[in-house]
Amino acid sequence: MSMPEAAAPSASADRSALLESLRWKKFPVLDDGFVALVDCMGEDGSVVQAARVSYGEGTRKVSDDRQLIRYLMRHAHTTPLEMAELKFVVRVPMDCWRQWIRHRTASINEYSTRYSLAIDSMQSTHDDEWRAQAANNRQGSGDFLPKSAGHKLTQSEMELQSFARRVYEERLEAGIAREQARKDLPLATYTEAYWKIDLHNLLHFLALRMDVHAQLEIRRYAETIGQQIVQPLFPLVWEAFLDYRVDAMRLTKLDKGVIQRLVAQSGQKGLPASQEHFLEAQDPSWKPLERSRERDECLQKLTTLGLVK
Ligand SMILES: Cc1cc2nc3c(=O)[nH]c(=O)nc-3n(C[C@H](O)[C@H](O)[C@H](O)COP(=O)(O)OP(=O)(O)OC[C@H]3O[C@@H](n4cnc5c(N)ncnc54)[C@H](O)[C@@H]3O)c2cc1C
Repeated sequence: MSMPEAAAPSASADRSALLESLRWKKFPVLDDGFVALVDCMGEDGSVVQAARVSYGEGTRKVSDDRQLIRYLMRHAHTTPLEMAELKFVVRVPMDCWRQWIRHRTASINEYSTRYSLAIDSMQSTHDDEWRAQAANNRQGSGDFLPKSAGHKLTQSEMELQSFARRVYEERLEAGIAREQARKDLPLATYTEAYWKIDLHNLLHFLALRMDVHAQLEIRRYAETIGQQIVQPLFPLVWEAFLDYRVDAMRLTKLDKGVIQRLVAQSGQKGLPASQEHFLEAQDPSWKPLERSRERDECLQKLTTLGLVK
């Protein structure tokens, strides 16, 4: 195995300057949250360097770094991406943090409210930020409520949060242990943590949490990490990640069947197909008279592709 070439001095200086400009910079998220990069090991080149160990020198002539990274991303050859690591410090409301820590492949150290006073900050919702329950997705949000309707909700949120904080502080003044006094603090209370993760698992987190199905609050964190930190530090990986993961579309066997039937009929019925023709071509397992989430998802994909109008 030959040793990798050292980076040219100016490229290495540019990289160090970029890293230093990002380290400890607090990118605000929500009303009082943030993400900041503490440290980063690796760059696009580290991914390439690791991949070349498995592909050997021969590959070097035919594939430049960009092509190699794109190949890795397309074919889920993921371990080279584990060679880079990022460490963040984040400030996140506890309900959002509860979703965040479901990602088990990170190392975490969180602020202790047994040891220290709970952070005196709770995520607040402006008049125009209240979202209605989604009509077609039990987990999601729909439209924003009018500001006039949100005003009352924001007022009661403020009252609840200041009452909860007061009760917490009264308990502490009465000598109650911090570990017990905290029990009625709202989930909106901010927590802080160090969060270290390799690039492969970070991209997995970002793909899930930047997605429209993720809750808006955690989406804001994921977008900030992705766009403000990962993109500048790993531009080639980021580009491939968007092309082959975030902005890609997965077609199921059933979706392919629908497309094949629509294309087969296109001579008589034309494309883009009408909704009626889409229903004629749907998978037989989707019961025509019953609601099918899978059919809805297929229709959405085909509409995006311009195959159904
Ligand atoms: C939109 C959305 C809605 C969700 N809704 C719910 C919900 O209603 N209820 C709920 O409880 N959760 C919910 N989750 C959480 C979800 O089920 C996952 O727990 C979370 O997204 C972490 O994903 P992960 O396990 O792939 O990630 P990580 O924990 O980061 O793991 C990465 C990968 O490592 C592997 N891995 C890690 N640990 C193990 C293990 N112990 N065994 C085997 N393989 C492992 C898996 O391949 C995994 O994909 C939701 C997530 C999203 C994005």
